[in-house]
Amino acid sequence: MKTIKSLQLDKVKVYGDFWSDKTLLIRNVVIPYQLEIMEDKHPNVEKSHAIENFKIAAGEAKGEFYGLIFQDSDVAKWLEAVAYSLISYPDKALEDKADEIINLIGKAQEKDGYLNTHFTINYPERKWQNLLECHELYCNGHMIEAAVAYYKATGKITFLNIMRRTADLICSRFGEGKTRGIPGHQEIELALIELYNLTQEKRYLETAEYFIYERGKEPSYFEQEEKSRDWYHWSRFEDREYAQNHKPVIEQDVAVGHSVRAVYMYAAMAELAALNDDKKLLDACNKLWDNIVNKQMYITGGIGSTVHGEAFSTSYDLPNDTAYAETCASIAMCFFARRMLEIKPSGKYCDVIEKVLYNTILASMQLDGKRFFYVNPLEVITGVSGVIKTHKHALAQRPGWYACACCPPNLSRLILSLGKYAWGEGKDTIYSHIYLGGSASFDLSDSVTIECISKYPFEGYVCYTINPISKSSDFCFAVHIPDWCKNVIYKLNGKNINAEITDGYINISRTWKSGDKLELIMDMQVKRVYSNLSVNSNAGKVCLQRGPVVYCFEETDNKAPLSALRLPEDSVIEPVTEKEGILKGTVTLKMSGLKETGDSKLYSEVKPNAQGVTLKAVPYYTWGNRSPGEMRVWIRQ
Ligand SMILES: [Zn+2]
Repeated sequence: MKTIKSLQLDKVKVYGDFWSDKTLLIRNVVIPYQLEIMEDKHPNVEKSHAIENFKIAAGEAKGEFYGLIFQDSDVAKWLEAVAYSLISYPDKALEDKADEIINLIGKAQEKDGYLNTHFTINYPERKWQNLLECHELYCNGHMIEAAVAYYKATGKITFLNIMRRTADLICSRFGEGKTRGIPGHQEIELALIELYNLTQEKRYLETAEYFIYERGKEPSYFEQEEKSRDWYHWSRFEDREYAQNHKPVIEQDVAVGHSVRAVYMYAAMAELAALNDDKKLLDACNKLWDNIVNKQMYITGGIGSTVHGEAFSTSYDLPNDTAYAETCASIAMCFFARRMLEIKPSGKYCDVIEKVLYNTILASMQLDGKRFFYVNPLEVITGVSGVIKTHKHALAQRPGWYACACCPPNLSRLILSLGKYAWGEGKDTIYSHIYLGGSASFDLSDSVTIECISKYPFEGYVCYTINPISKSSDFCFAVHIPDWCKNVIYKLNGKNINAEITDGYINISRTWKSGDKLELIMDMQVKRVYSNLSVNSNAGKVCLQRGPVVYCFEETDNKAPLSALRLPEDSVIEPVTEKEGILKGTVTLKMSGLKETGDSKLYSEVKPNAQGVTLKAVPYYTWGNRSPGEMRVWIRQ
């Protein structure tokens, strides 16, 4: 069913644009920083102990397991990010370090292939007994993905062999006619499919299928599992919706439960639907996609609006101040979107990738790459956010690290693999899904390289230069035009051309000659965006967006309380390119607005008085990088 394939990362180079700065930041700052933390060399952040756990399990150190039950997955995601980094930026010292850690992982692995430091060190007798809570399959999944990535990046087989032993153990244990089981936290499904795609060994695909289709079957596996053991890790309670175990996956049409687990599973379902030509499964994926994007997604691309269970809530329940919107959940939407794109290219998937990338995902990382958000609120209230019980999770400043550190390494592996999301290749068509400066090589009948110069997201200029290896090549070049963009000028070799947008793409079929240039000049007018009136917290409010970038107001630019500010309909909004300071290079917005002052009593018949003020809005992804204070995305009109 797949109509296009994403490019392998060795075919893509990222340079000269917004994202090349971010990839360099991950390579130069975030990867070394995460390593220091995992090795407990950073004194002022949450202790990780992740590497020490492997040393203890390997018999190279004495001690107890420390950290969350899925601490191993931090190491896995770091190794996967390193693999992607090595493709673009060969670095012997980093590769040596990765090899050292891989050897350690090999030593921590048990003879039968079992790999999990928590159980090996603390509870060897409890292996596989608590799939609901204990994340063995989740950690293994991440480690398998890392091993596949490392093999592709370096050609070295050691890590892959280690993880194939673990995968083989999983495949021999779980399945039809074997031990019953499904993972509490989905992830292993994606990993086994990835391993199948690399090795073409059917058992990996079959076990992934088993985990997907066994979910939601009666009687509930987790209920049976609980009855079979006399211990638990966090709680005895199984919430079937929380675990997406409430009905078989092909009957699921509303996104429910833990948002990261859910969307990892939807991504795996899409991949399986494509591999098996399974229309029913694809139908479920389409319904789940539409439900998330049209009913349960913040304008910043955040999903999973409630802290209770880090979960989806219900249609239109998108509170701004108590938003959960975990970084990993938005990252998972990229995974889901890419698989859906491979089945049927459609601008709606690219639009979501853009939305989550330029807003929630980027906002989760401080501009210096050293602090991170797990939760991504759209409104911060002084004295309330991060303070009172209902808002404890919505921090106003990024911490240096987390005891539960799933998000930062997930961000690293996504940003370093953007090439897989930016470009695609069909039978006779090359796709540009999102604008990514640099170049990409394609294997159509004649090899083709396309260079992309992009000033996105702050300027609407993108230029592609097409270079077939032979003198010319016939193919269709399909370029996604974002949904926010209503006016575009297209130029082919300097001359204006007409191009129709079909399902989010312009499709230009011709005989491409070396040096042909396709330019896009997009109108970057600031837009006022309103939400569906059913979104209780946004009624009467407006949000500003320019290109894919959503804006917010911060106390450091606008006097608190921000709830007193209004942006009248006739205000002229002026984009300003910042020339200095931490926001240098970004476009901020300056506008006239109103600030209300009212009576000091809690309730009064005195109408608030409005006075003219100048307001400033900054890209949402840059919030919390200057003086701490209030922030809001939605402002009263
Ligand atoms: Zn996370």
